[in-house]
This record gives sequence, structure tokens and C-alpha cells, in this order.
Amino acid sequence: MKIIVVGGGLTGLAASVFLSEKGFNVTLLEASPRLGGRAYSIYNAKSYIEYDNGQHLLMGCYRSTIRFLKIIGAQAEIKSMPLKVPFITPNSKISYLRAVDDFYPLNLIDAILNFSTVNWKSRIRILELMLKVKFDKGNSEQNESVYQWLKENRQTEESIEYFWQVLCIGALNSDIKKSSALIFKNVLRKIFFSGTDGYKFILPRKNLRTMYIDKSMNFILSNGGTINMSERLLECGIEEGVIKKIITTRKIYDNFDSVVFAIPAHAFHKIKFTGHQLKNIPAFEYSPILNIHLFLKENPFTEPYYALLGTDFHWLFNHGRYVSITSSSAEKLIKKNNTDLLSELYSNLELFFPIFNRKLVHNVKVMKEKRATFVPANGRLKNSVFDSDIKNLFIGGDWTIPELPATIESAVLSAEIISRKIENLYRVNGR
Ligand SMILES: Cc1cc2nc3c(=O)[nH]c(=O)nc-3n(C[C@H](O)[C@H](O)[C@H](O)COP(=O)(O)OP(=O)(O)OC[C@H]3O[C@@H](n4cnc5c(N)ncnc54)[C@H](O)[C@@H]3O)c2cc1C
Repeated sequence: MKIIVVGGGLTGLAASVFLSEKGFNVTLLEASPRLGGRAYSIYNAKSYIEYDNGQHLLMGCYRSTIRFLKIIGAQAEIKSMPLKVPFITPNSKISYLRAVDDFYPLNLIDAILNFSTVNWKSRIRILELMLKVKFDKGNSEQNESVYQWLKENRQTEESIEYFWQVLCIGALNSDIKKSSALIFKNVLRKIFFSGTDGYKFILPRKNLRTMYIDKSMNFILSNGGTINMSERLLECGIEEGVIKKIITTRKIYDNFDSVVFAIPAHAFHKIKFTGHQLKNIPAFEYSPILNIHLFLKENPFTEPYYALLGTDFHWLFNHGRYVSITSSSAEKLIKKNNTDLLSELYSNLELFFPIFNRKLVHNVKVMKEKRATFVPANGRLKNSVFDSDIKNLFIGGDWTIPELPATIESAVLSAEIISRKIENLYRVNGR
């Protein structure tokens, strides 16, 4: 059975891996000269370091992603961290959100009660709302933003700014006033109430190429698949509800059984469909992520990561020879030029970390990803249910799982769902 997979990001690679594992013959076509889509690595010849376009953080609740990494033999390439997140304020005061490993879920209650960034009243309110999320499965607030939901549930301004906003912007890459309360609650349930390890941070040990790109590639090729980079899909010829032909920048394919589209929603508009039009492809608002990698002569940071409060630079990830500063939902920052950005960043870092001095930096890379993720806005659950009515076309991507934001997990989960659908189709057809 021959399957063509279009798009070599996480969705396309994972779909190709799952399908190869099930014995399908896969041809993967990727428009750009590299694999990885929005999660890729770059080699910096000046510093001899390979770094990622942006820090990618996985969570223990990324079950599909963890299954995928196991299949390609990448378990050793990630490390799971105990819950110990330093929250730091501009006057360099650190407090931790920290949980012991045992006694789940009581350990989480203890973590919130000891979260001294906010006062006692705020901690109790956070706890009350967390318990409500766990036990109340109602989906009534279809059109409510996270902010409205927090206010309705008596959250203090302090807890909103220093706890909920940090969680929301980190997990959804979107501000609390824009994000859907329903999607946020789904995410909270997955992180905190889906099992003992759901809330743990998982980090790539080196970079994304080592973690999953090369290993996926090897898996696909060693199972008889083909990977063509710099080959863009241009046109699909559809007859009687079936894709018969696809035309790329290199050739025409007409000998295949099914096609998987693993491309973002906005990429559909550049493909010509003849004989049939795809309907209802959602038009999303997108949200940028800014990453600034600072290559250091000497590294003064002691923790693996820090959450920075009261600034637009949200996280600092410590990689040893360099640190990555991540700003999510970075609409404002992304418009600034690099000189202004760096001057603002250095002033911030010097405030937050008296141990930091800009003279420690010997090289800088600024990575601006304008369409990093879609905004999981109100109404997303209602409006985005999208399925192709073409029999041998399967559509995946981080935007195709309505109840989740755009993440590695939604990309891989969509690939898992597609591979099951394709397997069922051909099993049912007895081929
Ligand atoms: C800076 C940054 C940081 C992030 N951090 C996190 C994080 O910490 N945790 C997390 O879970 N998620 C994170 N994400 C989100 C995550 O990277 C994405 O959700 C995921 O990579 C999406 O994968 P995808 O395969 O669905 O789409 P994409 O990665 O966009 O892949 C689609 C691929 O299709 C190709 N393509 C498009 N059109 C065609 C065509 N016509 N023909 C052939 N190929 C085509 C594109 O070139 C691309 O390679 C982050 C994203 C960014 C940008």
C-alpha cells in the first residue's frame, strides 16, 4: 500500500513513522530543504553549536509524543524533570513551584500551598479552582475567555498575573484575554490530572535534530520509505471524490493509494485543487514566539530554567554554553529591531539576575517565528471541526485537534489518529 505524506514537520514525520511501522510504503514530500517544520535545528558555525529555532518543551502528559519517541528509539534523547520551577521577580527574588515525586495528587496541593510568589489568599483560590477543574467536567463556557473564567472564579489579580497568565501563555502561546477557557481547562486536566507524571517538564537533551528528526528519518528509510526534500506539492487532481494525481515542483505522482496532508491550515491556499474544492479550512489568527539565544563566555546561571515574572521575556532555558530566552505571544517584541530587542533584554536580565552581565555574551541569535502557533480563541471548539470528504485524503497537523492548542502533542496525536484511520480503511477493504 503506497501512501504519500505531504509536509515534513512533526505531523508528517510522525505519520510516516507510524505508517511505516504498520507496513505501509511511505513517500514523504517536504517543500523546504530541511525536515522538522516549526521544530528544527540550525548549526552555528561561529560557535560550533547546533541550536533550535526555539526552545521546545514537552510535558509528561504528551502521551502520543512519548509513544512516537519510543518507536524511533529516542527515549535516551529526552530528560524528564521533577516539578521544580523557579519563579523570579525583577528584584531577583526567587520562589519555587515545587512538588515531591510521591503522593500524587496530594503532592500538587502541597506544591500550590507552598507557592510563595503569591499570598495565602491567592494560593487558596488557585487550589479551589484547580479542584473545580478536576471534578467539574461541564463544558458550559463555550464562549468564555480564560480571563473571564478566572474572574468568575474569584481569582485574585496577583494569582492571575503570577500564576495563571504564566501557565496560559506558556501552554497556549496566547494571552488570557484571547484564549478559550474550555481549551485551557482541557490542558490543565491533561497536565495536572491525567496521571502521576503529566505535569513534569521534558526537555530534549541536545537539540531537536538529535531528538527526533534524524531518528525519524532513519526509521522511515530503513522501513523502505522515501524522503524528498525541496519538493513542494502544487496541485491535486481529484476525480469522483478520490485523489488520482498530485503534481509537485519535481514530478507528477499517479501511483499511490492514499495521501496525507500534514501542512498548516494557511498552506492549503497555495495548493490548487482540480475536480473538487476543500471546504471549511479554518482561517486562524497566529501568534508569534521570539527566542533569543545568548552564547556565553561563562555561564552564571544555576537552574535549568527560570520563569520570569512581570516582563515580556517569559522564560530562560539554560543549555550550558548558551541560554535561550523565550517570549511567547510576542506580538509587541517581534516588531522591534534586534538592537532594541537586545538592549531591552540585557536590561531585564541584569535586573532579574545580578549575576548576569552583558559582557558575558559573545554571540547572539535572534529567532522570530511569526506564525508559531494558532490562537486557541473562543469558539475554536465549535468552528474548527474539519474533515476531508475525499476518500483517500487524510488531514493532520497541530490545528486539527479542536480541544487542544498547537503543540508537539497535538501534531503527533493527529498523526496517530490518521495512521489508525488508514490502517482501518485498508483492513476493512481487505487489501
Ligand atoms: C519557536 C517555537 C516554539 C515552540 N515551542 C513549543 C513547545 O515548547 N512545546 C510544544 O508542544 N510546541 C511548541 N511549538 C509548537 C510546535 O512546534 C508545533 O505545534 C509543531 O511543530 C507543528 O508541527 P506540524 O507538523 O503540524 O506543522 P509544521 O511544523 O508547520 O510542518 C508543516 C510542514 O509542511 C511543509 N509544507 C507546507 N506546505 C507544503 C507543500 N505544499 N508541499 C510540501 N510541504 C509543505 C512545511 O514546509 C513544513 O515543514 C513551538 C513552535 C515554535 C515555532
